[in-house]
Amino acid sequence: MKYTVDKNDSNSSARTGVLETDHGTINTPVFMPVGTYGAVKTLTPNELRETGSQIILGNTYHLYLRPGAEIIEAAGGLHGFNQWNGPILTDSGGFQVFSLAKMNKITDGGVVFQSHLDGSEHNLTPALSMGIQRSLGSDIIMAFDECPPGDADIETVSAAVNRTAHWVKLCADYLQVNPLLYKWSQTLFPIVQGSIYPELRKMSAEQVIPYASCGIAIGGLAVGEEKSAMFEIIDLMDEALPKDQPRYLMGVGKPTDIIRAVRSGIDMFDCVMPTRNARNGQLFTSHGKMNIRNAKYKSDFSPADENCDCMLCSTFSRAYVRHLLNVNEVLGHRLTSIHNITFYQKLMRTIRQQIEANSFSSWAQSKLSEWEDM
Ligand SMILES: [Zn+2]
Repeated sequence: MKYTVDKNDSNSSARTGVLETDHGTINTPVFMPVGTYGAVKTLTPNELRETGSQIILGNTYHLYLRPGAEIIEAAGGLHGFNQWNGPILTDSGGFQVFSLAKMNKITDGGVVFQSHLDGSEHNLTPALSMGIQRSLGSDIIMAFDECPPGDADIETVSAAVNRTAHWVKLCADYLQVNPLLYKWSQTLFPIVQGSIYPELRKMSAEQVIPYASCGIAIGGLAVGEEKSAMFEIIDLMDEALPKDQPRYLMGVGKPTDIIRAVRSGIDMFDCVMPTRNARNGQLFTSHGKMNIRNAKYKSDFSPADENCDCMLCSTFSRAYVRHLLNVNEVLGHRLTSIHNITFYQKLMRTIRQQIEANSFSSWAQSKLSEWEDM
């Protein structure tokens, strides 16, 4: 994999770049829709392409439990299984183990947990996480890290930082010894932890940077901490992380968060928000957030967003989409998901264009005040 910075904004840390993978190139800053179980909910790969999506995520924890790594390996990896032919990033499974499963024991060797599905016991180790991600065949493999909750005390976070450093070495060792299963390359992204503690963040960055060859992630943010603290850490990471590699801010976020983070030098994002909120009827539009289930749209036959050319906005009315969601029609979920992902991808395209035109900073300022809390 190779990353080239194209253009640096002269008034902020924002930059555009190109990330070349064996499944195609990615223009950064990029938003990656989340395909938890191997599918971005309700959408086909072609529909995802039409939204402007360049790369999608898969969840190691969920795919390991169902259908199992061996089935996906027999299909030729996740690309062969779900027929998305673009780049794929898989997480390590760690975040889900820490947030979803009942954890029985966490040691320097890994995490013993009970499946949230049937209570069966598993031991997720750095080597197992790497082995599963080898089977999935993702272009980008995330290191197995420990992500403590947003309100964890400094001792807990410190222990997690040290464990994350120990584990990234085990991950790198595994990948060195165990060859690729498919014809394309896989790149390990180490993850910086340290919550909202600047000294621990700096230490974690120093510990994991040696394992970064073409990309590094900032984990453990957007997990319940104050937003101001999150942006202080992002600014700190802008200083601490190498400029010649893409920076991935995990699990973020709202459109305004993305604009602010791009301004602080972040290149890659993922979040379930556009798809999850879509299914609840919350649309992101050029005029701000819109709850399409609201009674005031009952007989409103105008498009959801007249500035959007997605399938929903170019074909159907607010009243119809509201009705579909109210009666729980899958088409409603599909249309609102297509719209929200299209909105996010259009936002990223605009961000890239603004950086290229060296007008990003003033554009960002006006969007942040216009969209306020969106
Ligand atoms: Zn639309």
